[in-house]
Amino acid sequence: MTAVAPERAGRVAFHDLRDLHALDGVQERVDAAVLRVARSGRYLLGPELAAFEEEFARYCENEHCVGVGSGLDALELALRALDVGPGDEVIVPAHTYIATWLAVSAVGARPVPVEPEADSYLMDPERLADACTSRTRAVMPVHPYGHPADLDAIDAVAAARGIPVVEDAAQAHGARYRGRRAGSRYVAAFSFYPGKNLGALGDAGAVVTSDARLAERVRLLRNYGSRVKYRHEVPGTNSRLDEIQAAALRVKLTCLDGWNARRAEVAARYTEGLAGLPGLDVPTVRPWAEPVWHQYVVRTARRAALVSALEAAGVETLVHYPVAVHRSEAYAGAVDGPLPRSERLADEVLSLPMGPQLTAQDVTAVIAAVREATETIHD
Ligand SMILES: *Cc1c(COP(=O)(O)O)cnc(C)c1O
Repeated sequence: MTAVAPERAGRVAFHDLRDLHALDGVQERVDAAVLRVARSGRYLLGPELAAFEEEFARYCENEHCVGVGSGLDALELALRALDVGPGDEVIVPAHTYIATWLAVSAVGARPVPVEPEADSYLMDPERLADACTSRTRAVMPVHPYGHPADLDAIDAVAAARGIPVVEDAAQAHGARYRGRRAGSRYVAAFSFYPGKNLGALGDAGAVVTSDARLAERVRLLRNYGSRVKYRHEVPGTNSRLDEIQAAALRVKLTCLDGWNARRAEVAARYTEGLAGLPGLDVPTVRPWAEPVWHQYVVRTARRAALVSALEAAGVETLVHYPVAVHRSEAYAGAVDGPLPRSERLADEVLSLPMGPQLTAQDVTAVIAAVREATETIHD
């Protein structure tokens, strides 16, 4: 381990990317890769991107990967490639990051939210079936916090209506559903935002698909609708994953399975150390799921008190996310509420520090701080 800076001694950071990059010699390898590209004279649509697309498709156990500018762009371009547009409806989770909804809005379609199950953060397949109308053109499940959605149940609802499932896999690089990787089916969007399980040194994303024609459409759309320079077949956009990001991602992809395994160890220790505390729910894992623990999220009705107690103990926490999407200003008046489960989650969820860079002492300190705080709060 690297030495901890004095101002951080005794504190547990939520997710420090410098500590992360200190693992497995990654910082030196990323530095070398970035320098190699910087000196290559080739910055877009070059060999690093081609190699990363090949490697990430294989990692996802799928056929095609198309690198784009961000996770939001990946979702939007997948929908555009499927010809989803104005007048269409797309089913989205009510409880998600706003990007899932924004991708639907960006193509001119209407996001139709579905509430999660009562005892998990997962899209409820029964509620999904009820939300479908004659205008529904796609379903976009999220794998919340790295736990896979119930894809077979969701696929069954979608297949009965002849509509595609677009996985929002932005939090689930490497997760498995019944043994199969997130992103191994028809089409999925990934984000490589720096804090994701596989993160770039800036913005980046990818569409992963089993369908060669769909991949080709996304390839066209991300590059001005052009395959051959100055021949524009469709009105595309500019959303390319650049060579520097691709080179950095190739280095970090070699660490992903090991880092996800380390996240699972941290999660197992949290669950063992925190289960059964009064007024605190630890996350549940479905028997068919191998989550990758993008976040470790507890629930409590006394969140504000817990956050201040942890802050005082030097443990940094975050909330994913404090405002339900339909309650955000961006969607004011756009969705018929109420969505009580999602509204309650926005008030009660709390993410504990998570990442492969956490030391055994960090994890012990977090568990002790949460235990002590919960006892004090409930006295
Ligand atoms: C991060 C995230 C996105 C968006 O990814 P960006 O790369 O930030 O655009 C989309 N959906 C979910 C569920 C996410 O967590």
